[in-house]
Amino acid sequence: MTGSFSVVRDFYGYRTGSYGHKPINIDLTTSSVAAEAIASDDPGRLSLRRQCELLETRFVDLDIIRVGGDDFNEVENIEIDVAVQVTRELYDGLDIGIGRVKWSFITVAQAGSYMSLDSPCETEDLIDDWSAFGGGVDCFFVRSITYGSGGGTPTKGDGLAVSLLGHWGSGIGLAHELGHFLGVEYHLGSRSFLMTFQFPEPPYKWRPEEISLIKSSDSMHGGCP
Ligand SMILES: [Zn+2]
Repeated sequence: MTGSFSVVRDFYGYRTGSYGHKPINIDLTTSSVAAEAIASDDPGRLSLRRQCELLETRFVDLDIIRVGGDDFNEVENIEIDVAVQVTRELYDGLDIGIGRVKWSFITVAQAGSYMSLDSPCETEDLIDDWSAFGGGVDCFFVRSITYGSGGGTPTKGDGLAVSLLGHWGSGIGLAHELGHFLGVEYHLGSRSFLMTFQFPEPPYKWRPEEISLIKSSDSMHGGCP
């Protein structure tokens, strides 16, 4: 135990202390990785009052598992914090919070071929083989997912996987995969929906039926209207 409590690190769970990012109304399908790259001094804004409000209504807890985390560098770790923040912003409009966030990792040696996920089956195996102690949604962050569009969530599985992209768009990936985990199984044609099959484009929208599915998920805490 250390003597000081940090709101950013301990309450919000931002391990690196950096959560700022470029504006999320930028279309990542046309922008470049370089333009959207993670930078520790990107501006960020948190509302403690809003976070407390969400913790009194509905929220999910996340258990971050870094796959090969002993080899992750600081920028990769910041990208995870940013992904959580982007996800918080995308769920805020649904009146759903991201509660506490815990971090753990499996080593490069333990991860073996899971360092790069090359098929939905491999993603499912990773999620089956490992889990966090925390009781939240297991969110595996991997360096590379070579199929699909940067993430994977097995149906009725125990967690989800998100690829590091080198920019804040991994937060779009986390929000999308969390949507699957919380019960949204289908994809829609229009790219402006966050749960579309292709990488979505802003503004990221939800359909009402998706929101009710998510709110009735077993992983959701709270539930008072
Ligand atoms: Zn999907």
